[in-house]
Amino acid sequence: MTAGTRLPPRESMDFAVVIVGAGPAGLAAAIRLKQLAPEASVVVVEKGAELGAHILSGAVIDPAPLDKLLPDWRQDQDRPLKTKVTADRFYVLGPARALRLPNFIMPRLMNNHGNFIGSLGNVVRFLGAKAEALGVDIFPGFAGAEVLYGPAGAVLGIATGDVGISRNGSLKSGFTRGIELHGKYTLIAEGARGSLAKELIAKFGLDKNREPQKFGIGLKELWRIDPSLHRPGLVQHSFGWPLDNRTGGGSFIYHFEDELVAVGFVVHLNYWNPTLSPFDEFQRFKTHPMIAPLFAGGQRISFGARAITEGGWQSVPKLVFPGGALVGCAAGFVNVPRIKGSHNAIFSGMLAAEHVVAALKAGRAHDEIIAYEEAWRGSALGRDLYKVRNAKPLWSKFGTRAGIVLGGVDMWMNEIFGTSPLGTLAHGQPDHASLKPLAEATPIQYPRPDGKLTFDRLSSVYVSNTNHEEDQPCHLHLNDPSIPIARNLPEFGEPARLYCPAAVYEVVYGNEAEQSDPRFVINAQNCVHCKTCDIKDPAQNINWVPPEGGGGPNYPNM
Ligand SMILES: Cc1cc2nc3c(=O)[nH]c(=O)nc-3n(C[C@H](O)[C@H](O)[C@H](O)COP(=O)(O)OP(=O)(O)OC[C@H]3O[C@@H](n4cnc5c(N)ncnc54)[C@H](O)[C@@H]3O)c2cc1C
Ligand code: SF4
Repeated sequence: MTAGTRLPPRESMDFAVVIVGAGPAGLAAAIRLKQLAPEASVVVVEKGAELGAHILSGAVIDPAPLDKLLPDWRQDQDRPLKTKVTADRFYVLGPARALRLPNFIMPRLMNNHGNFIGSLGNVVRFLGAKAEALGVDIFPGFAGAEVLYGPAGAVLGIATGDVGISRNGSLKSGFTRGIELHGKYTLIAEGARGSLAKELIAKFGLDKNREPQKFGIGLKELWRIDPSLHRPGLVQHSFGWPLDNRTGGGSFIYHFEDELVAVGFVVHLNYWNPTLSPFDEFQRFKTHPMIAPLFAGGQRISFGARAITEGGWQSVPKLVFPGGALVGCAAGFVNVPRIKGSHNAIFSGMLAAEHVVAALKAGRAHDEIIAYEEAWRGSALGRDLYKVRNAKPLWSKFGTRAGIVLGGVDMWMNEIFGTSPLGTLAHGQPDHASLKPLAEATPIQYPRPDGKLTFDRLSSVYVSNTNHEEDQPCHLHLNDPSIPIARNLPEFGEPARLYCPAAVYEVVYGNEAEQSDPRFVINAQNCVHCKTCDIKDPAQNINWVPPEGGGGPNYPNM
């Protein structure tokens, strides 16, 4: 039997609210729903094998929304955030030097005092336990694979993916049909570049009259370092080297409990050079003379990567559609200069929940919760994003050095006067349109990894604990299978080989010496679900869809 043959009908379950994605946004929404309407049934599906398995963040976390959501969390024995920020440092890096910027010139909103350093994965596990205690049904290992629409076009819920289909489409012995989860309202909390969110934004034109969403790829490693070098509470950011002035991005290093250090690097996905590899830029960053000594004698524990939204205020789509809403980074609430989005994810989940409860109490279902859309720009969420709305466009337009100075001045103006003479700047083109042809770029050469401080992709995927059932349909769909070789290879050198941090994409030559007879190979089992290919492919030819639930990375505490 093949998947093309008539499949058995799906079973269905009815809930008041269906939530897709157990990140901070989805779980905050679930908790708030139950706090305000204990009688409402709420279900959360999560594609990771367990809660937190697919969560990757920095993370320095602004606790303000947690204080509102769970006022007693600071007294909780099991609280996931224990390390308070004690020192904040900003550097501009050159190849051999580092210039520390005085803290007083930084806009006040960049100050991290009062914030906590920790693992967002552990925050999510903590929120999950709180949600379950309130009666929320949480189904980890289930991907939201399909949006269900009613006859009038409203969203009625989602279906989880079928399990047990082989690579060639035949049904295996353990085949299990997905389940339909029907809700009066469906909240999409998939994080950056959600696959259902992408469909809904296109179907309902939610991004009409908005600037294009912008993204970065964030790469992160967790290290246990020499105790004598560990400074719990230290937060360090840099920009500049190894990126050129036209390429946006920067690093973070956060010291927290148990001699742990989170080190990461973000590259803005509007980079122009098709020979750039964000993964290798990250590895090279660690070799800087100021950075490398920190890791001497240390051990890398984990690696991962995830897209981060960067469009901010002017790119947030309309949040509501008939039957549901977008919350968290599925809509894009990251404050880019602060490199923080988890506080806004929680705020947006709470705000959406409050308006959903009002609608449920009024006996409504499957309509637009327009009050949520109307509320966010005037809320704490909107105020947080409004002040920094020009930082990213200025960086993109004027490059790192001038862009950061201008962005800083603009943020100060917004802090002091509540406005800026620049108004709200546009982002311009989407990230997939920014690559220059190979012929116009100087190829970037990366040093070989040493296996101690710097690593290759495959050993990195290994420590991300990534695992997929191998005999399943490829979850990386090519709209036109000929494009990688016919268009992307001659024009850009097929950049998927370089922007994918997990060695999923390869070009293999029939005759390696002559570089002839090229073939595009997709090693889908390595995918760490960062979504970069869905964003950056210049032809917008790659469509990331969820693989069988439970597949993907299994991050311990990222
Ligand atoms: C490298 C990096 C560093 C960052 N540093 C910081 C920081 O220091 N401080 C900070 O505040 N923020 C930081 N952020 C941003 C922050 O991580 C995000 O803003 C936040 O995680 C967004 O929360 P969310 O709940 O919207 O999405 P996510 O945290 O991405 O959670 C979404 C969840 O939904 C699940 N999911 C997705 N699609 C489906 C589906 N179809 N079916 C079922 N489940 C699905 C995912 O597996 C995931 O568990 C950083 C981000 C990155 C990438
Ligand atoms: S295949 Fe795409 S989503 Fe998967 S790791 Fe590579 S770039 Fe990220």
